[in-house]
Amino acid sequence: MLPLEVLKAAGSEITCAHGTGQSVMEMSHRSRDFIKIIERAEALLREILSVPEDYTVLFLQGGAMLQFSMVPLNLGAVNAGEARKKATYIDTGVWAGKAAEEAKKYVDVRIGASSKDKNYSYIPAPPPPQNEDSFYHICLNNTIFGTVWNELPETGAVPLVSDASSCLLSEPLDVRRFGLIYAGAQKNLGPAGCTLVIIRSELLGGAPDWTPVMLRYDIHAKEKSLFNTPPCWSIYIMSLVFEWILKLGGLPEMAKRNREKAAALYEALENSPVFRPTAEKQFRSLMNVPFVAREENAEKRAAIESRFLNEAAAAGLINLAGHRLAGGLRASIYNAMPIEGVAALVKFIKNFDPK
Ligand SMILES: *Cc1c(COP(=O)(O)O)cnc(C)c1O
Repeated sequence: MLPLEVLKAAGSEITCAHGTGQSVMEMSHRSRDFIKIIERAEALLREILSVPEDYTVLFLQGGAMLQFSMVPLNLGAVNAGEARKKATYIDTGVWAGKAAEEAKKYVDVRIGASSKDKNYSYIPAPPPPQNEDSFYHICLNNTIFGTVWNELPETGAVPLVSDASSCLLSEPLDVRRFGLIYAGAQKNLGPAGCTLVIIRSELLGGAPDWTPVMLRYDIHAKEKSLFNTPPCWSIYIMSLVFEWILKLGGLPEMAKRNREKAAALYEALENSPVFRPTAEKQFRSLMNVPFVAREENAEKRAAIESRFLNEAAAAGLINLAGHRLAGGLRASIYNAMPIEGVAALVKFIKNFDPK
């Protein structure tokens, strides 16, 4: 979801943004009008997340998945003839696994720990980094399996890198703990098309000579995300979302709302005779709540879940199917989902008759 207020504001400005006589979709990305928009988006993000001065903010394209390549390319890859570098990845689900798989092309990947043994229902204990690690990668919130790192791994001098696509700006986060944070915009920040990267500036410039120019953080940093045409519309909507967050009270208020919403939903599922949440209690995500029918027989379980989806959709409760790779059910309750939306789902779960 995006906040209704943001959509309405964008709608009212769709033909004429801030009195400029043009839509953001029509602006040159090099115009003063657009530069004001991207600078404002960055300033708002820095304010909300307390991004330290020595970190660079980039607005890129290619989604979170392009970061699966850019991270190892820029932080670990080497020139021909040089010894390959190492990196540690923690396997906490589909996205974390895909990131590790892609990184193997550029660095020697060690899977430091995995929660695959219990279908990714928990966060494994992270080992210390290897001495030669060029970085250490985690997926902060596991969108598909609904788990979250409540305690970050201690990586010492090795930069901690995190995919925060599905939780950035859902609660306060200490940016200093990370060398690099990336997030596709479309989960919690704005419309698809933009990927945020927050990188400790001293980590810029590590890409080997053969790196495609569009995939170099240092080039995008030098050009202030205007090396080529950025996703202008997406950046504009993100700036409206950032304003909305600030106006409501920033990340402490987001966290309060998100905790309240998640608590109500998990409680309903724990007490439900029909459904149960799948993530272990101490690792439960505030953003993604996967659940399944308690029925043990797989065929009957699938039938209950499918009827739940149909009846929920008829009641106006949509997008409740689990990820296609995980099955089951899932409620994603990002920042813009109001408590009323969660309350409606809770009520529906309580009243659902499995027959
Ligand atoms: C959705 C998601 C992705 C994939 O994002 P794209 O922007 O589609 O590439 C990667 N990681 C996480 C944690 C996600 O939730």
